[in-house]
Amino acid sequence: MKIYVNGKLCDKADAKVSVFDHGLLYGDGVFEGIRAYNRLVFKLDEHIGRLYESAHSIMLQIPLSKDEMSKATIQTLKANKLTDAYIRLIVTRGVGDLGLDPRKCFGKPSVIIITDKVKLYPEDLYKKGMEIITVSTTRTSHSALNPQIKSLNYLNNILAKIEAVHLGYEEALMLNDSGYVAECTGDNVFMVSNNELFTPPVCMGALKGVTRGAVLQAARSAKILTHEHVFTRHELYNAQECFLTGTAAEIIPIVKVDGRIIGSGKPGKMTSELMKKFHELTKKDGVKY
Ligand code: PMP
Repeated sequence: MKIYVNGKLCDKADAKVSVFDHGLLYGDGVFEGIRAYNRLVFKLDEHIGRLYESAHSIMLQIPLSKDEMSKATIQTLKANKLTDAYIRLIVTRGVGDLGLDPRKCFGKPSVIIITDKVKLYPEDLYKKGMEIITVSTTRTSHSALNPQIKSLNYLNNILAKIEAVHLGYEEALMLNDSGYVAECTGDNVFMVSNNELFTPPVCMGALKGVTRGAVLQAARSAKILTHEHVFTRHELYNAQECFLTGTAAEIIPIVKVDGRIIGSGKPGKMTSELMKKFHELTKKDGVKY
C-alpha cells in the first residue's frame, strides 16, 4: 500500500508524521473522506471544496492548490491500483512545540492521502434497515466548535459512538444543546413526513454532508419536496421513513429510533427510490482516473 505524505508516495511502514505534529498533539487539522466507484471519484470537487473551507476556518494554509490536491489524490489511487476505494485526505497544522500556539508550528502543514478498500455497514442492514438510539452526548454548538468544520478533533462524535456501542447500536442520533435533531456520529439524518423529505439545517449542528447534498439534489429532480428544517425526536418517531447518509454509509434505511418503529418498520418507498438513484449517480458522476 502506497501512502502520499508531503509530496512523496511512501510504503505503509514508512508513512509517518512527527510526534510534535499538532494534528497528533491537539487534533489541529482537517480531513475528508471520499469514495471512488469503478475508477470514478465521486464528488471530488465538493469534498476538496469542503476541505479548503474547513482549513480556511481554522486559519490553516494548505500548501497545495485545490487542483494539485485533486491530482495528488488521483496519483495515490493509481499507485494503489484501486478500482473502488475509500480515500482519506488529511492536512495537519504541522510540527510545533508542546504549546497550543499554531504560530509556533514551523515548516509546512503535513498533507497525507490514504487510499484503502471501503468498509461498510453489514449488507443485511441495507435490506432490513438499522436501529439507532439517541445518546446523551450532544453535538458541539457552532459557537464552541462548528460541526461544519471537518476537523481532526472528532472526540465529540467518538464519545457519542462509545455510548452507542456500549448500548449495542452501530450508530447514534445526536441532538444539539437545544434538544433538536442534529445528525449522527458519522452520518446525516433524513426523515420523510407527508411524503416530503426533511433534513435538519446545518446550523442545527451538522456537517454539510456531500452525500446529503447529492440526495437533496436527486430528490428535487424527482419532484420530491425537500426541506432543510428543524425537527425534534417526536417528529422523527412519527415519520413515515428515516434514513442516514454518508460517504461510507451511502444511504442506509433506519427502521427504529429509541425503540419506536418508524413507519412500517421496513425500509420505506422513498428511501428505496433514493438509494436506487444514488447508486445510479455513483456509476456515472465522478472524476475518472
Ligand atoms: N456527519 C458527520 C459528523 C460526518 O463525519 C460525516 C462524514 N462521515 C457525515 C455527516 C456525512 O458526510 P458526507 O456525506 O460528506 O460523507
